[in-house]
Amino acid sequence: GKVLVTGANGFIAAWVVRELLDEGFSVRGAVRSASKCAHLRETFASYGDKFELIVVPDITQEGAFDKAVEGVDAIEHVASPFHLHADDPDELIRPAIHGTLGILQSALKHKTSVKRVIITSSCAAILQIEPEPKTFSEFDWNEQSVQEVTEKGRDAAQMSKYRASKVLAEKAAWDFMEKHKSEVEWDLVVLNPPFVFGPTIHHTPTPDSLNASARQFYTMLTEESTPAIRHSGSCWVDVRDLGRAHVLALRRPEAGGERIIVSAGAFVWQDWLDAAPKSMSLQRGVPGSSKDTIHQIRYDATKSFEVLGIGAYRSMEETARDTVADWKARGWEW
Ligand code: NDP
Repeated sequence: GKVLVTGANGFIAAWVVRELLDEGFSVRGAVRSASKCAHLRETFASYGDKFELIVVPDITQEGAFDKAVEGVDAIEHVASPFHLHADDPDELIRPAIHGTLGILQSALKHKTSVKRVIITSSCAAILQIEPEPKTFSEFDWNEQSVQEVTEKGRDAAQMSKYRASKVLAEKAAWDFMEKHKSEVEWDLVVLNPPFVFGPTIHHTPTPDSLNASARQFYTMLTEESTPAIRHSGSCWVDVRDLGRAHVLALRRPEAGGERIIVSAGAFVWQDWLDAAPKSMSLQRGVPGSSKDTIHQIRYDATKSFEVLGIGAYRSMEETARDTVADWKARGWEW
């Protein structure tokens, strides 16, 4: 079968493309401009005509994906803005919602052969700041960020603007499915990852060109930081495990209609400093000082094991080792 992957030149999507190709699928990658094609063509050259690209210049335009969805059996919608420098929250919210709805509308309009749509949402659409530590599940929705953005607009925290875009886009997708349930011939799977780390295969010539999460990982391991920052954290998943989850979400019939958290566990940055290869001159902090951490936020990843059939997630040691090796192979100095 053929699978459309949007935002194919991004950190996560590039791994989704590779995992799909390795599993024997044909892939059509959608990118915003022709300039994003060369590196991808080179990366996936060995797969021959199993990999093709299409340019979709503006995902917020009506009918933007009409051509892209033609003749595909499934869609992995990964493209969405993830940065923390939006003034107007609509810089994030509009492409997040309209990209999601647009692709569903294009698939519906053309009565394509699409059997399944998978959307990369986020734990940002799940977590809330609670007074006590909490383990969140797929039943939880982040109402806080949307409320903050509604009340404060441009003055909302940057992270809240991004989180609101993910909540609203995911809700729009589920609402679309409900509204069109008698017409659609596919089912929807939503994946909700926390922070995503790991080596990159998309175009990242310099550390500055890394996407938001990989960039933060690089900064935290290579630059001095305060004890307070080293003892702050979140939850995480390796980008390769997330890429594989996108294939499992396509393959497993029982995933249809499900919202699924894809998380390897909780961390504070000191844990990564402890897990990083000892041979590297990285920041070290105070080794072992995080062992009694009480994590404010955790996720119940049971569904990812039971429904997706993920056997085990990569460990921090493996992710840290491979990520640092990747920086080294690129000749990055720190
Ligand atoms: P990247 O920034 O590497 O990739 C984002 C992709 O989306 C790029 O292809 C980018 O295209 C595209 N994109 C961004 N804004 C627009 C827009 N306005 N119109 C069209 N395309 C756009 O980030 P990630 O790979 O990390 O993110 C991919 C997805 O994963 C996103 O949906 C994100 O919300 C989600 N996610 C990421 C997490 C993480 O920790 N990294 C955690 C949880 C979810 P271009 O290169 O042209 O800008």
